[in-house]
Amino acid sequence: MEQIKIELTKNPKQKPTDQGSLGFGKIFTDHMFVMNYDKGEGWHNPRIVPFGPFELSPAAMCLHYGQEVFEGMKAYKNADGKTLLFRPEKNMARLNVSNERLCIPQVDEAFCVEAIKKLVEIEEPWIPTAEGTSLYLRPFIFATDAAVGVHPAHHLTFAVICSPVGAYYPEGLNPVRIYVEQNYVRAVRGGMGFTKTAGNYAASLKAQDESEKLGYTQVLWLDGVERKYIEEVGTMNVFFIIDNKIITPSLQGSILSGITRMSSIELLRSWGYEVEERHLSIDEVAKAYDDGKLQEAFGSGTAAVISPIGELKWGDKVMSINNGEIGEITQKLYDNLTGIQWGKIEDTMGWTVEV
Ligand SMILES: *Cc1c(COP(=O)(O)O)cnc(C)c1O
Repeated sequence: MEQIKIELTKNPKQKPTDQGSLGFGKIFTDHMFVMNYDKGEGWHNPRIVPFGPFELSPAAMCLHYGQEVFEGMKAYKNADGKTLLFRPEKNMARLNVSNERLCIPQVDEAFCVEAIKKLVEIEEPWIPTAEGTSLYLRPFIFATDAAVGVHPAHHLTFAVICSPVGAYYPEGLNPVRIYVEQNYVRAVRGGMGFTKTAGNYAASLKAQDESEKLGYTQVLWLDGVERKYIEEVGTMNVFFIIDNKIITPSLQGSILSGITRMSSIELLRSWGYEVEERHLSIDEVAKAYDDGKLQEAFGSGTAAVISPIGELKWGDKVMSINNGEIGEITQKLYDNLTGIQWGKIEDTMGWTVEV
C-alpha cells in the first residue's frame, strides 16, 4: 500500500469543554481518513484530510441500493496518557466479512489498522479523559458509482471519522428497559444480519421508534422465521443468566458477531463460568422468570460496553430482572472489560493495542 498522505486542517475546531455532556456521536474531530477503490486499480490514495463533506453524484449507488458497510470501535486514554485501541484487528477482520457479503472488495486489514492508528495519533488531543469517555471511531465504505442500475460497485470510498463520546445511553450503567419485538423482524438467515451494514439498521428503525414511544430503550429481536428464538438487541448482543448458567444466542447467520460478545465469553470462561452459545427461546426466558431462575440479563456492544437489562416486556408480560438493578456478574464483566479498555487493570488477555 502507498504511504498515507497527510493534510492537516488550517481551521481547527473548538474542542468540547464539558466532557460530562458529550453524548454519543454528535461531535466530530478535525480530520478523517479516506481512500478510494477503482476497479483495475484496487484501493489507493490513502490520506488523512480535514473532516468535511464528500462530493457525491446524485446517482451514487450507495444512495439508491445501500451498498455500504461500517465498523464501530473506540480509542481510550489511560491514566499514563497512553492511547489504547481494543482488538482493532477483529474490527477489520469483521469489516472484510461484511465486505464479502456485500460484494465490496476486501481491504488490507493490517494496513487499515495502521491507518486508524495514524488518524488517532493525529486526533489525540480530541480523546476525552473523563470517566467513561472515549473517542469513537467509525470506519465505513460506500459505493460511489454514478449509475442507477443494480450491480456491485466498481468505485467505492473507505473513510474513518472520529467522535469524542460519553455514555451511549443516557441511563449510563443503569439498567435499560427492553421491548421484545413481535411484529417486525431485523434479519433472517441468508440475509445480511451477520454484517454491519446500513440496511440492517434501516430495517430496524420502525420497531425502535415504536418501542421508544412506549418508553423502552431498545428492542429485543426474535428470529425472523419462527419468531421464537432470541437474536440480539438493537446495537448489542444479548446474554441471559438462568439458573447460574450464562446463555447467549449462537451465531447462526442472522446476528452480528460482536467483539464485546466474543470478549465477554472469553472473560467469563476464564473465570470458570459456564457459557452456552445456543438457541434460546423467549418462552424459555419467560419460564425461567416465572420459576424465579432468571437472574441477570445484559447487552454487549462497543458503544455501551455492557448494558444491564432491568426490564423485558413481551406482549402483556413484564419481566423485572434482578429488581431492575445491575447483577453481580454483569457488574463484574463491566468492571473488567472497561478496566482493560481504559488500561486500569492489567490486560492479561493481550487485547489492547497501544497507538
Ligand atoms: C455493532 C453491533 C453489535 C455489537 O458489536 P461489537 O463488536 O461488540 O461492538 C451488536 N449488534 C449489532 C446489530 C451491531 O451492529
